[in-house]
Amino acid sequence: MADEKFDAIVVGGGPAGLSAAYVMAKAGMQVIVVERGEYCGAKNVFGGIFFTNVMRELIPDFLKDAPIERNITKRRFAFLSSDGEFGGDFKFDRFNKDFANNSFTVLRAKFDKWFSEKVEAAGAMIITGAVVDDFILKDGKIAGVKARMDDGELYGDVVVLADGVNSLLAKKLGFHKELSPDSTIVGVKEILSLPEEKIRDRFGLNGNEGVAYEYFGYAAKGAIGSGFVYTNKDTISVGVGATIKSLLEHKLNPNDVLEHFKNHPAIRPLVRDSEQKEYSAHLIPDGGFKKFSKLYGDNVMVAGDAAGFVNATLFHEGTNLAMETGKLAGETAVEAFKKKDYSSESLSLYHTRLKNSFSLRDMKQFKNSSETLDKNPQLFDKYPDMIGDLIAELFTVDGEAKWPKERRLAMKLLTSENPFRLLKTAIDMRRVII
Ligand SMILES: Cc1cc2nc3c(=O)[nH]c(=O)nc-3n(C[C@H](O)[C@H](O)[C@H](O)COP(=O)(O)OP(=O)(O)OC[C@H]3O[C@@H](n4cnc5c(N)ncnc54)[C@H](O)[C@@H]3O)c2cc1C
Repeated sequence: MADEKFDAIVVGGGPAGLSAAYVMAKAGMQVIVVERGEYCGAKNVFGGIFFTNVMRELIPDFLKDAPIERNITKRRFAFLSSDGEFGGDFKFDRFNKDFANNSFTVLRAKFDKWFSEKVEAAGAMIITGAVVDDFILKDGKIAGVKARMDDGELYGDVVVLADGVNSLLAKKLGFHKELSPDSTIVGVKEILSLPEEKIRDRFGLNGNEGVAYEYFGYAAKGAIGSGFVYTNKDTISVGVGATIKSLLEHKLNPNDVLEHFKNHPAIRPLVRDSEQKEYSAHLIPDGGFKKFSKLYGDNVMVAGDAAGFVNATLFHEGTNLAMETGKLAGETAVEAFKKKDYSSESLSLYHTRLKNSFSLRDMKQFKNSSETLDKNPQLFDKYPDMIGDLIAELFTVDGEAKWPKERRLAMKLLTSENPFRLLKTAIDMRRVII
């Protein structure tokens, strides 16, 4: 392989890298993907919902053989207080139709492996178990990468960096700085075994229906973060995520936060009698639009988590943004291949494509979300119990007439919190939701 030159080298075989490779290989480019895991998916951690709008564009009949766990038909968004929960959910029958909401639970070890086989079938070469450590430069420009393997000098006209959060390679290029604790989330997750029948009964599911429950408020033991419970076929994915800054401030360790979450009165009944099958932890870039990596340069583009594309608001989307950015980087490389021009100017088309895509537009819309949450820690420590207590009292039937009770509770609310702060928090929240 030492003397072989590729049209494109993709670093990282996650959704971003595989999408880029798929598009380029389909267009007839010679593509190599270098993945450090034993196989694609082996090292990839996520909560559990793969958003398939972009997959559907790339492989329209993917549902024929993709390893899908369940079709998400019901979503719940709840606030945890220290002893309860309050929230709302929705379930639509239309979500039962194949693609309905493009939200499926998957296990990445199976799903990414399946995707990598499609990418190979499209003509790309995938090397696994090899870490890319550095670039090969010629006349100051990227001419390839150095991978930790025999004959590890790989040459290519363009390199797509899709090596995930905290991309050391993008950092080497000076494309982004160190991750900062206020805009980096640590996520910990367990996969718990539970018989299929029990999952259906417990969550009220028919056939292949699945649920996605998201928990806010006191979900991360007072730290700025959230938790989730997603159903797979015969397992449940349970996890929490919180910003590093907030965990440090609260002197919390992510494992304790997860244990606390699993033992919360609202969560315990959902996970009882299950057995731990897997435990994993991973970082999530939460800086958003304001902390994006530089996205392209001469002979290089950055996609997915490596560039910072995660919408960690209410929507918790990352996989579709990774696939979209990978796809657009791939399409840009195909144009460059045709023109034989991989200069920064030619690859700036990637940015133009991103600007017209939901990926960059969503990230722009929620550009203030992580800062907003950082400035409103009361949503995670003080408010959950304050509001939970009011709801619990209002719905306690104790002989007190409703009108004086409602007035008393309104006064209680106004004495527990400055009304202006309450109003400001409510207004601020729009940055995380709309
Ligand atoms: C706890 C948690 C929960 C999440 N929940 C969800 C969810 O429910 N839904 C959702 O859509 N998103 C979710 N996300 C986000 C989602 O996982 C990511 O946005 C998505 O995986 C990004 O894809 P990617 O291809 O950019 O990066 P990754 O999936 O991280 O892939 C990067 C790949 O690069 C490889 N790699 C890294 N460095 C090198 C190197 N030097 N050489 C070779 N290979 C290398 C890695 O092994 C990896 O396979 C979650 C994330 C976490 C951590």
